[in-house]
Amino acid sequence: QSSMSYERYTAELTNCIIAFLSPILPTEEEYRIKEATRRQLERLAAKVSPGAKLLAFGSMANGFALRNSDMDLCCLINRSGDQEVHPSASELVEMLSKVIREETDFNVLALPKARIPIIKISRGSTSELPYEISCDIGFENRLALENTRLLLSYAMVDPPRLRTLVLFLKVWTKRRKLNSPYTGTLSSYGYTLLVLFYLTHVKRPAVLPNLQRIPPTRPLAPEEVELNGHNIYFYDDMATLRKDWQSQNTENVAELLIDFFRYFAKEHPYSREVISLKTETGMFGKDAIMWNAELCIEDPFQHGYNVSRTVTKDGLYTIRGEFIRATRILQNRNQRVSAQLAELCE
Ligand code: ATP
Ligand code: MG
Repeated sequence: QSSMSYERYTAELTNCIIAFLSPILPTEEEYRIKEATRRQLERLAAKVSPGAKLLAFGSMANGFALRNSDMDLCCLINRSGDQEVHPSASELVEMLSKVIREETDFNVLALPKARIPIIKISRGSTSELPYEISCDIGFENRLALENTRLLLSYAMVDPPRLRTLVLFLKVWTKRRKLNSPYTGTLSSYGYTLLVLFYLTHVKRPAVLPNLQRIPPTRPLAPEEVELNGHNIYFYDDMATLRKDWQSQNTENVAELLIDFFRYFAKEHPYSREVISLKTETGMFGKDAIMWNAELCIEDPFQHGYNVSRTVTKDGLYTIRGEFIRATRILQNRNQRVSAQLAELCE
């Protein structure tokens, strides 16, 4: 019965969440195979454009990967050479996809005319290589590399709690079909920003500092501060930060998760506020021009850009309904914690 104290209950739920995640984290071997694939594709990119680099971003690079997650790669062209004209992103998509088709056994889908031209490649698992690969290659998307680095830095500030929360929410949003920007809900990146907002700006004492508002401790080069007109500064001296910044918050993962669900079920002012990590309070009013979407999450670097613009009225209704459902399930203490988790992610 529910005689168990709240502390004992959340300690047990925390352990259960960690045990639940452990078999679905990527293995060393998966990382090795993906890294080998990246290098193979980088060699092909260099054939198309000498000196081209292919860098990983998204979950394979930010510390928030689950087993078999997609690979996000960004191709950077070497612009220091003496060539005068550089191929456009669409031309690069055409050229690189041709080479990948000729020289590998990947399935290749080239989307040169998309708003953001990309190449999608995939390969089923075989008996020698028991890993499916599914990878998107984009071009010159330097902001994505920077926001990946920001997420990785946050992951390093409070590795156990932030990482566990984000990974659990990723599994939950995927199982509950809430992680589908194309059909009206939110990307993993969007959910990760919600967790960062909650841990930095909602929870008191805060679990995380606001890395975008800690002043630099050394002079910065211009390219560390600005990229294509966007302010990309954040404090990234993690060795110093870990010495100087210690959260006063001692809540465990389960306590934070329960309160995260409660906050987004009942308390968050969806209709009035824009979530914006880089601001002092983490929010500003929607009445600031142009913010009329259902859910508003400003990108940490791209001023005025709504990461959750894909979320429709129905989508937000569903997501909030799921936050309420999760709150209810975690309140029902007549169940064992393992049964609660199973029901939550059903
Ligand atoms: P998953 O493991 O589910 O693929 P992920 O951590 O790779 O999760 P994604 O949502 O696939 O997260 O996003 C990968 C990267 O793509 C992010 O780090 C971000 O740079 C970029 N990105 C994704 N969604 C958006 C968006 N709505 N707006 C801007 N950038 C985005
Ligand atoms: Mg991804």
